[in-house]
Amino acid sequence: MTTTADDRWLADARARAASGTWERDTDAIFADLRRYAARRPQPDPQPRCPYCADRPEMSAFRRFELQTIDPLRFCTRCYGFWAVGDSLSRGVADPGSGHPALEQAMAPRRCRACHGRLKPDDTCRSCGKSLPALNCPACGSPMERFEKQGVVLDQCALCRGTWFDIGEIVAVYQLAPHQGLAASTVDEHATDDEPPAWVIALHLISRMVFPFLPF
Ligand SMILES: [Zn+2]
Ligand SMILES: [Zn+2]
Ligand SMILES: [Zn+2]
Repeated sequence: MTTTADDRWLADARARAASGTWERDTDAIFADLRRYAARRPQPDPQPRCPYCADRPEMSAFRRFELQTIDPLRFCTRCYGFWAVGDSLSRGVADPGSGHPALEQAMAPRRCRACHGRLKPDDTCRSCGKSLPALNCPACGSPMERFEKQGVVLDQCALCRGTWFDIGEIVAVYQLAPHQGLAASTVDEHATDDEPPAWVIALHLISRMVFPFLPF
């Protein structure tokens, strides 16, 4: 009688089943997984502002032309932004639309204990405390700082989300103010020998309302 690899595998499996070690191994593996899952902080589906002391819930930043799977969120109180997933893959705002949260200039970081000014190494000039890390809006674990376009941002390694303090999203994405954007669009299309569109429209309307006038 010849013994094939299949026979040996079957014999091994029977021996493991008879001794009970197979069940013990799988139990141990699942127990490990359960312990790991329990330790891992669960992301909150409703993120809360990490900057404001009473941690208000953040709102979805409404966009009509830029559709993403993950919403971009912002705090209506401090105008900080929270971005996860693909929420920034297509930019920040609809072209030509404005929002007060995007009109805000970047504010210098302040001490979170006494609101004093900070030294370049992020320690407070007044109370000497170092700036504590912000906690992730979604899972609550401390975020890590990193620099992008000269702006210091906070990021959660677990949720892969990025927090922008007031004005920082405008600085990183180099957004032009709404008015400036609209003006540049008008300049592109206007030519010297053509009257602006509003003059033509006004003229047409006046011809319809006052057809008897000689202009
Ligand atoms: Zn806030
Ligand atoms: Zn301070
Ligand atoms: Zn997180």
